[in-house]
This record gives sequence, structure tokens and C-alpha cells, in this order.
Amino acid sequence: TDAGRVTERIRTALATSVVLRADNEESAEIFPSASMGVVTSSLAAQGPAELLQCADIALSRAKRAGRSRFEMFDRVMQARAVTRLKAETDLHHAVERREFVVYYQPMVDLRSGRITELEALVRWQARQGIVPPLEFIPLAEETGLIIPIGSYVLGQACRQLRAWHERFPRTAPLSISVNLSVREFTQQSFVSRVKETIHATGIDPRLLRLEITESIAIEDKQPTLEMLAALRQLGVRIYLDDFGTGYSSLGYLHQWPLDAIKIDRTFVTRMHTEPTHLQLVRTVRALASNIGVAAVAEGVETEAQLATLREIGCEYAQGYLFSKPVPSDEMERLLSADPRW
Ligand code: C2E
Ligand code: MG
Ligand code: MG
Repeated sequence: TDAGRVTERIRTALATSVVLRADNEESAEIFPSASMGVVTSSLAAQGPAELLQCADIALSRAKRAGRSRFEMFDRVMQARAVTRLKAETDLHHAVERREFVVYYQPMVDLRSGRITELEALVRWQARQGIVPPLEFIPLAEETGLIIPIGSYVLGQACRQLRAWHERFPRTAPLSISVNLSVREFTQQSFVSRVKETIHATGIDPRLLRLEITESIAIEDKQPTLEMLAALRQLGVRIYLDDFGTGYSSLGYLHQWPLDAIKIDRTFVTRMHTEPTHLQLVRTVRALASNIGVAAVAEGVETEAQLATLREIGCEYAQGYLFSKPVPSDEMERLLSADPRW
């Protein structure tokens, strides 16, 4: 109760306007406000540093709850902070110890029935076992660790592709696609990093695909377009992943330099149980062909789905029917068997 009263006094004291004057005589009147985090020593008695950290957690909560208010640190915040901190520390260590491996899943060209492309999918090889990306990528994005992780995946995928080109020479060489998160994409240096990787690994840039999602459209439009154009300039192809799950307007579709749209797994999965989903897959396929890009179906698990996708005219498909994402040695066996579907 006392702390609450103190925050009220601080707020009142700050609430008077301040006039800021710049050298060029232009002035602006500002109205300061304060968000405050409060912790009582009974909850966090581990010394001043921890006390301040707890207050900071409460402060973040106050900001998220709409600013210009105060929040008390409580046991729930404490428990969450501890769990999160541990997860963050683990992830940091994982990056330092390079505990990430790249798995590969084939993409099949439905005209020839052959594997023509691979998608690189990251896994965290933790002590307790393999951790799937959906369990650590969100945290990696928040903490910025996605930058070193993404950079590792890109490098590894390109090196592996180069090695497989030498091992399995073909008239139409295999290509590879790598997933990008929004955070990586908003990095100024991203294009030069891609360029360097291509150069260092010596792959043909036209065989590299970068998968982006609709969420990129939420970001500032102009820089996004410039970045996509710069990547395209390098020869790199751009795929739109998980199409149909975002909430963005379709306006960007004809502005973005795209090469393929990947139809999200949820639509493919329900194609035969819900007629609307079959309709949706047909519609996306038509949309792709209208804007002149290829359609890739994700999550194909049955022969019946494959047959329908062929009939609809999808160019590529990917899914457990062909293969789950597998480590490189297993992918190598699959590539040397060169199966047809
Ligand atoms: P995504 O790019 O849409 O990848 C496809 C996901 O669907 C993969 O999950 C794959 O294992 C799964 N999948 C493929 N075929 C089937 C199927 O027939 N049935 C079912 N049930 N699932 C199928 P995974 O590997 O767990 O990856 C999940 C997501 O994590 C990816 O979705 C991608 O958004 C993200 N991700 C993976 N690797 C990276 C990476 O290196 N960087 C970034 N930024 N994101 C990544
Ligand atoms: Mg993908
Ligand atoms: Mg996808």
C-alpha cells in the first residue's frame, strides 16, 4: 500500500509539462509519464542486484499493460522469470556449443515424380534429446539468437548442397530452401551475409531458395520490397511459406518478387474430409498460376492427397508420404536411391 502511494506521488510530480528547446530555436512541449515496477524485499531477498532485476520484470509488465502505471512483482512473475531465464541460458549455451543440426526434407516435382529440391529444417540436439524448431525458434527470435542460428543453417545447407552436387551429378541440379524469420530479414546486413555464404560455398545462387512468411508483410513495406529485390538480384529465389495461415491482405502478392507459394499443411491435410479445404487448395493453386508462380503443397501424407494434387495441377509437393525431415546421412541414402512417385 505504501509503495502504491509513492508511485502515485512520483507520477504527479512528473506530470507537469516540460518545454524542450533545440539550438535552432524550435521548441516542443512534452508531457512525461512513468511506468513503474515495484518489488518488496520479502519476495526477492537475494541482494540488491536481484531486487533490481525483479523490479525490472514488474516494470516490463507495467509497460505491456499499457504504460503510465505501476505493477507489483509477484510469485507468478518470479516463477515465469526463472523458467524463461533458464530457457534463455540453455539456448545461449546451445549456440556456443553449436548444438544445432540441419535435417532435410525432399520436395518432389509432380511432373517427373523425382526429388528436385530439399528444405533445410533446423533441430536442436540438446542433452535430453532432439528439440523441434517450434519449441525454440520463438525464444531465439525474441533474444536475437536466431541470427547466429539462422546463419549456421544457411551456411550448413549451402555446404551440404555443394557436397551433394559433387556426389550426385544431375542434368538439373538439386536446389535447397532455407527458412527465414522476420528478425533475420529486418537485419541490414542480411543480403551481404547471403552473398558471402553463396560465394564461400561456391553454389549457384539460382539453386538457393529463401522461405519467408506473410508475417514479413507486417513490417515496413518499402525496406521489405528492397530486400527481396536485392536477394532476387543475387539470383536467389523467394518462396512464400505457410500460405493461407496469415492475416495479411493479399495486396502484397503481386508486388513481392515471388517464385513459389507453399500451400499450408492444414489445407492439404483436410482436403478430403472438408470440401471447403479442397476448394481452398484449388483456389490457391489458381492464384499462384495467375501471378505466375509455382504452387508447392505442404504436408502430403497419403497417396489419395498426392493424386488430387496432381489433378489440381500443383507443381511440387512435400510431406511424410515422400519422407520426413531426416539427417544428412539418411538423405544421402534417399538421394542415391532416386525414387519416383
Ligand atoms: P515449415 O517451414 O513450414 O516446415 C514444414 C514443417 O512441417 C516441418 O516441421 C516439417 O517437419 C513438417 N512436415 C512436413 N511434412 C509433413 C507431413 O506430411 N505431416 C506433418 N504432420 N508435418 C510435416 P519442423 O521441422 O518441426 O519445422 C517447423 C517450423 O519451424 C518450420 O515450418 C519453419 O517455420 C520453422 N523452422 C525450421 N527450421 C528453421 C530454420 O532454420 N530457421 C527458421 N527461421 N525457421 C525454421
Ligand atoms: Mg518452410
Ligand atoms: Mg510451411
